[in-house]
Amino acid sequence: MKQRKLRATGLGDQTLAIHAGEFPDPVTGASAPNLVMSTTFVVEADTGFSVEGLSENDPFVYTRWGNPTIRQLEEKLSALEGSETAVAFASGMAAATALLLHTLKAGDHAVVSDVTYAAVSEAANELLPGLGLQISKVDTSDLNALREALRPNTRLVYIETPCNPLLRLTDIAAAACIAHNANALLAVDSTFATPAGTKPLALGADFVIHSLTKYLGGHGDSLGGVVLGRTADLVPLRKKTSIRLGGTLSPFNAWLILRGLATFSLRMKAHEENALKVAAFLESHPKVVKLIYPGLPSHPQHELARRQMKNFSGMVTFQTEQGKETAVALADKLRIIHYAVSLGHHRSLVFYLNSEDLLKTSFRLDTPKQLESWKAFAGEGIFRLSVGLENAEDIIADLEQALG
Ligand SMILES: *Cc1c(COP(=O)(O)O)cnc(C)c1O
Repeated sequence: MKQRKLRATGLGDQTLAIHAGEFPDPVTGASAPNLVMSTTFVVEADTGFSVEGLSENDPFVYTRWGNPTIRQLEEKLSALEGSETAVAFASGMAAATALLLHTLKAGDHAVVSDVTYAAVSEAANELLPGLGLQISKVDTSDLNALREALRPNTRLVYIETPCNPLLRLTDIAAAACIAHNANALLAVDSTFATPAGTKPLALGADFVIHSLTKYLGGHGDSLGGVVLGRTADLVPLRKKTSIRLGGTLSPFNAWLILRGLATFSLRMKAHEENALKVAAFLESHPKVVKLIYPGLPSHPQHELARRQMKNFSGMVTFQTEQGKETAVALADKLRIIHYAVSLGHHRSLVFYLNSEDLLKTSFRLDTPKQLESWKAFAGEGIFRLSVGLENAEDIIADLEQALG
């Protein structure tokens, strides 16, 4: 075979998105990656039956332990994030819970951002305390609050930036210093920022998590998740969580996400360009009382956004006087934008999140200061708009006719 596996060093992001992890099939010469659906692999007679001694370069044995298509995806994601290695999961939530269950044991304390992806917040409310873990939910955009929350048994600080759904940021480099001074590890859910915007590992984080369902897959047709970090951390994490808890990514989804990733860098440039235009339109719309986009000077943390995000991504939130009524109008009248949850797809998506409901179900904020911060970003409720890759003029015209 003429071509070998690519060395990632020195290559640009578009080249990595297309080539990293992939290699022509050694038997047929096929240029596109193979989809290997086989759950099992023919092995040598001395192959062990336990994963105890398994190392990253061992031959494939069973797809829950490792699979050639999933491995190609993990290598591509690693190259894009600049990590030593990666473990893919069946969903973003499988990745997030795997990380939490791997790094924490009964009696340990963790600080979790008080506003994160709703299911992570809900897990921090009930699932994790039920296992004997001590969890403090803290507004990590307030570095003093983070510092004060640390205890002698704090093992993990878990943040999300920009956080879903508020688009509030946490300073990753500062959070890494604070966590490390207390002998705790820092994990960052970077789903909204994507590796095109932010590289948390280079800023000092120990782990990065992505929902591949969003920008990385990018097409709304496959759930997936990933944890990225050091090999020394992720080899045991793979054994304990991916292999023993079993939230393994389907090779078919891995193949779809690999295909989506080829255009990742180009898509993120276009998402940002469209989001800037749509945000500027919404900001000047008479019915919009507040708009939040990290790429605009009106974002309360625009300075931090400029420092920490090379690409401002495609997520925008806005508020109107009558949120619930506007939601009914948008769900009814939008022609191009889908009124639906999720984000990061080529299609534009919008969804209304009511503050009162969310504060009851997912985010049980304790202090007046936490509630004040929520209110500053979300008011009574926000429209979370994932600006897609349609023509910006068409997205704007659709919003204009539906907002009336
Ligand atoms: C969607 C999302 C998740 C969960 O990902 P799934 O693939 O839906 O399980 C986690 N974190 C963030 C920030 C998300 O937006």
